[in-house]
Amino acid sequence: MSKEKENPTLDDLLIRLKSYLHEEKDLDLIKKAYQFAYDKHQGQYRKSGEEYIIHPLNVALILTTIYADAETIQAALLHDVLEDTDCTVDEMQSAFGSEVTRLVQGVTKLSKIHFSTENDYLIDYYKKIIVGISEDVRVIIVKLADRLHNMRTLWALPPEKQKIKARESLEILAPIAQHLGIHKIKSELEDLSLRYLKPDVFYDIAEKLNNTKLERDKTVYEMLQQVASLLTEHNIVHEIKGRSKSIYSIYNKLNKGKKFSDIYDLLALRILVKTEQECYLALGIIHSKFRPLPRRFKDYIAMPKPNMYQSLHTTVFGLDGYLFEIQIRTYEMDEVAENGIAAHWAYKENKDAKVSMQSTTEQKLQFFKTIMDLNSDKMSNEEFVHSVKDEVLNNNIYVFTPKGDVIELPKGATPIDFAYKIHTKVGETTVGAIVNNNIVPLNYELKNNDIVKINTNKNSAPSKEWLQIVKATQTKNKIKSYFSKNERELYIERGKYQIEKELRKRKLSFATIFDSKNLEKILKSLKLNSLEDLYLAVGNGKHSANAVINIVDEQPIQAPPKITKPISKENDADIIVSGIDKVKVNLANCCHPIFGDEVVGYITKGNGISVHRTNCHNLAMLENRMISISWNDLIDLDKKYFTILMIYSNSIDNKMADIVQKTSMLNISIDSIKLIHKEDEMVYELGVYLKGIDQLNRLLLELNKQPFIYQVERLMQ
Ligand code: MN
Repeated sequence: MSKEKENPTLDDLLIRLKSYLHEEKDLDLIKKAYQFAYDKHQGQYRKSGEEYIIHPLNVALILTTIYADAETIQAALLHDVLEDTDCTVDEMQSAFGSEVTRLVQGVTKLSKIHFSTENDYLIDYYKKIIVGISEDVRVIIVKLADRLHNMRTLWALPPEKQKIKARESLEILAPIAQHLGIHKIKSELEDLSLRYLKPDVFYDIAEKLNNTKLERDKTVYEMLQQVASLLTEHNIVHEIKGRSKSIYSIYNKLNKGKKFSDIYDLLALRILVKTEQECYLALGIIHSKFRPLPRRFKDYIAMPKPNMYQSLHTTVFGLDGYLFEIQIRTYEMDEVAENGIAAHWAYKENKDAKVSMQSTTEQKLQFFKTIMDLNSDKMSNEEFVHSVKDEVLNNNIYVFTPKGDVIELPKGATPIDFAYKIHTKVGETTVGAIVNNNIVPLNYELKNNDIVKINTNKNSAPSKEWLQIVKATQTKNKIKSYFSKNERELYIERGKYQIEKELRKRKLSFATIFDSKNLEKILKSLKLNSLEDLYLAVGNGKHSANAVINIVDEQPIQAPPKITKPISKENDADIIVSGIDKVKVNLANCCHPIFGDEVVGYITKGNGISVHRTNCHNLAMLENRMISISWNDLIDLDKKYFTILMIYSNSIDNKMADIVQKTSMLNISIDSIKLIHKEDEMVYELGVYLKGIDQLNRLLLELNKQPFIYQVERLMQ
């Protein structure tokens, strides 16, 4: 990126903007945003000593290099105002409208992460980035520009902070920029990160590059001249640029064991032409004059990279035996190669750039789909972060379908991962794989540029051993979910068996008991949708076969004792007090009874009846004012009952997020969650609203399954 002025002014910004923003009102709004930010940050200084406004101004300037729209530029100028000044959301909203405010809020959310452990921090960071991308990808683009400017001025921070920021930039932000195709920002972030993480390596490479620069420049210039006249001879209008490799990409190659002198694509040319045909034409002409290096040709025009990158790549023996890496592409492809998703801004007259950007993100960027998939899968936050970091943002390989579509997979992926990535159904029916025309075993480790064909058989099914073979978490989850679906079938079988057994015991026929009218009654009273669901509910122990048949069988073998309640039709309360129709009833605050609990009533003085769980220890003191009560299970109140669970964990990590996630997964509303430290255990106090005992049992089951939880009990005060 070009050298930036140290202290730019609003005028510098306006000059850049005028080159591509032509509406006077846009420029006015940007001036207003600048003034607003200027006033709000007045008196604040950056660690580097400059006035604070220099930072947002630079962020906006970075964004002009990718032609960001007026709203994004305003958001860039205002991006720290909500977090660092007294400005309120309302104030911003009335000054700049809801769209700009939303962008600023999105960026603010991303910076406002302060957690005690690194793990919590990362989890939150990833989730917020993902939410940011899914809501408006421009939020992330502003964040990238913000980080880029902070990295440029990183020298002002103490060394430990430099390393933290640099690592985060390298591990999270640069890969995101890469996936969004914003090459300019990605590559500068990488170089700056390397400079702070491995200064000796960085300066060593920089020095070597410098020492060989003159010679390289001369060779590149001569080659450029030759190629240019060759193309002109063939009437191809073009532009050629010499280009330099980034320090980080050289470092990467050195890391893979190459010698500095062997990194032949240090010499590189980029040719821009007008049409796709001219790309291939130019390639043919160049190959006819300069011998190509075998197997170095790549056609990313026919097979774009997952971040939309298109170009032809070839390496040829050039002048004096030097190897040249040549890229050939159209101007439009070049725009995408440099700016990726942000290229939508540069397309002429693209009024709805933000809409196209969002829909391109969702449709074309494979990493986005993968992240969304992972996010919706049932996995713990740690697993989620681990898979996003290791399998989505870093270490990817690119392989091809037989039709030439590029599929992005984590390093170490197998043909099964590939098959599932194509489609779950393909994965589930995979029987074999052919890679580059050779039959390979299913645990074959795919490599970059492999062409993979999957053989399927519609009668085939996944095997549990695959779980050991596959690499991507996404694939594992899909296989697991296949088997849990199968477990569902097992439960259904079991439920069916139990009902039939109970019918035989009562000498009833299935046909009479489960005629359509009765079945409807059973399903309705248990709030189930189908006979299959009924079997499932019996099979997994939610309802007993006995209770199910009692709903329609006139003479139940064991009449449950509770059925002798005197209920009047008008009784619409959830609690029935024997012998009394209308009475004020309260749920006790000490033991928080919920629907379905064993309960007893206590007659208060002047405040109706208070309902306690039968094992509530406060009852001992209330002995002689008790009255028998029961739940009215004939009415269907959409009522939820509050209760408190004490969750004991033996993990020293904060598991709050996991508990919240497991609870919400069951559609249970959470009122509050508190963490109480007790010597060497962590206790979480979770307040929830439940429909009743069934839902509670499901929650207890789920929580008890968690390895970090060793006990769950209901709070009784
Ligand atoms: Mn900032």
